[in-house]
Amino acid sequence: MKDIFTIALSKGRIFKETMPLLAHAGIEPVDDPETSRKLILDTNQEDVKLVIIRATDVPTYVQYGAAEVGVAGKDVLMEHGGEGLYEPLDLEIARCKLMVAGPEGVPSGHGRLRIATKFVNCTKRYYAEQGKQVEMIKLYGSMELAPLVGLADRIVDVVDTGNTLKANGLMPLEHIADISSRLVVNKAAMKMKHERIRRFIDLMQEAVVKNRPAG
Ligand code: AMP
Repeated sequence: MKDIFTIALSKGRIFKETMPLLAHAGIEPVDDPETSRKLILDTNQEDVKLVIIRATDVPTYVQYGAAEVGVAGKDVLMEHGGEGLYEPLDLEIARCKLMVAGPEGVPSGHGRLRIATKFVNCTKRYYAEQGKQVEMIKLYGSMELAPLVGLADRIVDVVDTGNTLKANGLMPLEHIADISSRLVVNKAAMKMKHERIRRFIDLMQEAVVKNRPAG
């Protein structure tokens, strides 16, 4: 039996924007994850499979070798810590910014800020670097709601157009990091299946260059 090469990625924007890059590497899924309930998708290459999982689980699957490679946002990787992973390539897709946001026209005050976020590690690091003590509230979704109902003074979230913040009377206040999706590789697989993975990275690199907007 041929060695299976498994690629972990999440549905939605990352899946859509990764497909043209994979196509350049000669890999095309047989099923569409938006309509299929399958968690393991076959591709046109018998020995290449895609596993469709939550974005925050991608680094974990790759870290433990359940998938040789994966595609994950830099926000997710910073939060995970990157243990057991190489990050050889910026795919330059799903771009956004990790930001502190809060209600318009409300001064930060003198007390300890309460920050609601799902990016607990990134947020702790960000404020620790500034020597600021903050109180963290871990949420799993709809961070924008927290300041509106008095749960928090600020949120830390990924922002693309800023429309979601604006629609909820919030504005971006501080820039923490520029985010894009990265190719991650299991460290042991990089050694054991070096040639295969190197070839894949090179093709993906070519695809990234080809995918860049002109000018
Ligand atoms: P926005 O365009 O700023 O209104 O973004 C809408 C929502 O989509 C934000 O609240 C984010 O949670 C989410 N979002 C936007 N871009 C990304 C991305 N690249 N990765 C993950 N989530 C994103």
